[in-house]
Amino acid sequence: APAAPGPLPVLGLDVRAPLVTGGELPYAALDYAASAPVLRSVWDDVAAYAPYYGSVHRGAGYLSQRSTAVFEESRAAVARFLGCREDDEVLFTRSTTDSLNLLASALPSGTRVFVFETEHHASLLPWRGPGLRTVHLDAPRSPEQAVATLERALAEAPEGPKLVCVTGASNVTGEVWPVRRLARAAHRHGARIVLDAAQLVPHRPVDIGELDVDWVAFSGHKLYAPFGAGVLAGRTDWLHAAEPYLAGGGASRTVARSADGGVEVEWQSGPARHEAGSPNVIGAYALASACRALTEAGFDDVAARERRLTERLLAGLGELPQVRVLSLFGADGDAAGDGTDAGRSGNAEDAAGAAARHRVGVVSFVVEGWNSSHLAAALSAEYGIGVRDGLFCAHPLLAALLGAGRGASGECGAPEGGSLNAVRVSIGAGTPDEHVERFLRAVRELVR
Ligand code: PMP
Repeated sequence: APAAPGPLPVLGLDVRAPLVTGGELPYAALDYAASAPVLRSVWDDVAAYAPYYGSVHRGAGYLSQRSTAVFEESRAAVARFLGCREDDEVLFTRSTTDSLNLLASALPSGTRVFVFETEHHASLLPWRGPGLRTVHLDAPRSPEQAVATLERALAEAPEGPKLVCVTGASNVTGEVWPVRRLARAAHRHGARIVLDAAQLVPHRPVDIGELDVDWVAFSGHKLYAPFGAGVLAGRTDWLHAAEPYLAGGGASRTVARSADGGVEVEWQSGPARHEAGSPNVIGAYALASACRALTEAGFDDVAARERRLTERLLAGLGELPQVRVLSLFGADGDAAGDGTDAGRSGNAEDAAGAAARHRVGVVSFVVEGWNSSHLAAALSAEYGIGVRDGLFCAHPLLAALLGAGRGASGECGAPEGGSLNAVRVSIGAGTPDEHVERFLRAVRELVR
């Protein structure tokens, strides 16, 4: 039988972490949901390209031509990775946050934007600009409730442009949302839908046409590429009708003095319209390289391996009565079944297996009697394990999960008092089994 696929080679696996006890251990990066380590193949690709570094769309010389070709090929590679339709375009941005703010800037005036209060702040907050209205939807406790809540809100909304913004997989619970069904509901009511795929794209194949969403946004640094590049992919009509997100060189086709003594601008159409300034060609190239690497590794195999590790995480934590794993959908979550999910198991498999089927490898939890920040600090200082604690830039979601009222206070990721925070452990394509086992052993020892 062929060997089960192992982790993909990533940078940082040979970093050693100093321990408070004086020794050191190979660092276990279990914070993929914040930023994933860079794939070794991505790093090698970038190193091979670096000598050809040149300005994009701006020079007649060989290096500039070559960089322009690299940049445009990267755009095409991302489009293939996402299964883009004929009339979609891929814009390179700085990050998911940047992509969603770009889209917000391009919405027709009067657009009503529907968002669940459980969204990451990057998808919750960009829709507050002039001319837009945000409709906040209550936290759903099952995928069915999410669809029903959206249906009801859309049915009650007055005529006019509408956008739904939804996260594909939660950066807190890891739960996969019923994206295709939400898209169907949106379209049935004449709304468009943008998918915040920051946590979904690194872990599951995402096909924009199959999910039938209008736009997808994600970040390179969560997809095993370095920081600084993100993507907004999807429909062009609203984007081409809007003023450029950034005004400047590259976005302008012609600029001339006007008869009244001012300056008249004709803006570009196509991606250049919203990519003013010298673009981040290395970032785009690295991001496209990561897309290719996942496809070549067999994304289904990568996802299956992560699912097995997630199952192990959930089962290990489930053995400790002091630990509460956070879940919005609870046992109903595996009804998400919409192509990004294997659906309800329908048999008596153990709870961890069922839960892992509707999650990416992101698990948040609280431990009775422990301040989450102290637990995370102990994991780092005593076991060389890097996790995250805090509110994960999703304050209303944490309030819903931990039973507090609306409007949790505290900085993003640095809550005051620590009462509303949790510990998050997250894995990915480069996670060795040993990291998961060490993490479970450490939590077991600390909790006991
Ligand atoms: N959406 C989700 C679901 C996320 O997890 C994150 C990052 N934590 C973002 C958006 C924002 O991504 P970035 O910081 O790369 O803009």
